Amino acid sequence: MKKKTRVGIIGAGTMGSGIAQVASTARCDVQLFDDHQDALTRSRANLEKVLSRLVEKGKIDDAQSKEVAANIHYDTNFNDLVDCDIVFEAIIEDAEIKEKFFCQMEEMVREDCVLATNTSSLSITSLAACLKRPERFIGAHFFNPAPLMKLVEIIPAVQTEAETTSRVRALIDGWGKRTVLAKDTPGFIVNKVARPFYGEALRILEEGIADPPTIDWAMTELGGFRMGPFQLMDFIGNDVNYAVTESVFKAF
Ligand code: NAD
Repeated sequence: MKKKTRVGIIGAGTMGSGIAQVASTARCDVQLFDDHQDALTRSRANLEKVLSRLVEKGKIDDAQSKEVAANIHYDTNFNDLVDCDIVFEAIIEDAEIKEKFFCQMEEMVREDCVLATNTSSLSITSLAACLKRPERFIGAHFFNPAPLMKLVEIIPAVQTEAETTSRVRALIDGWGKRTVLAKDTPGFIVNKVARPFYGEALRILEEGIADPPTIDWAMTELGGFRMGPFQLMDFIGNDVNYAVTESVFKAF
């Protein structure tokens, strides 16, 4: 039997939990880490709810639901990363914290383990620069909610080896996602395009032209968007979205 890919995920928040569900549905062995036990407890409870809804809707059967749940191991001990084939980081959008974290992690994982970050906006090349072996580092930017959104931006750093890029793309494409190669520029593709979407909506509000429900209504009903800018900002989390905007602004 083919050995299961062992996937480490750091951060059991919105994105880490979503990526864990995607990888476990693709039959990977997933180690989901967070330094807060309550984040892990929440993540497990949310997944249980999601899986029972999928069973109710007939999208998966009971056995599949049990398998997806059983493929994820919840952990607060980073040392258990030792055997991972790839690690996805999905912690707070803060370059210093991410760098510190990757430096520790590099010492812990196997030589051939790929290190990937889910950052929305930070420079992949400068994050890679803190590593001893930056050639195995890459950006893999999933969108929220990860189990539903097909697109994943793959962002090689200047230092990333071509083999790392092709390994990561093959893995994520194999999970049923559509990967797109993006340049390491502030906001990559989607978040660069998306900044004015939020910024202009906030300006319209600030200038008293319309209130949030009206702006959302106009963008969904008239503009054909799936979500209005205010609904989307709430969904992403205003703390997360603000950090991304600030980071893109500073980088430019
Ligand atoms: P979140 O706040 O929901 O989750 C972050 C989790 O990381 C928390 O559970 C926290 O306890 C944990 N954490 C923080 N520091 C840690 C550390 N040092 N070690 C271990 N765990 C730690 O955040 P999120 O929305 O999932 O965002 C995570 C990353 O994904 C960010 O880089 C963000 O920019 C990116 N992202 C977010 C979205 C989105 O829509 N929210 C979309 C794409 C990418």
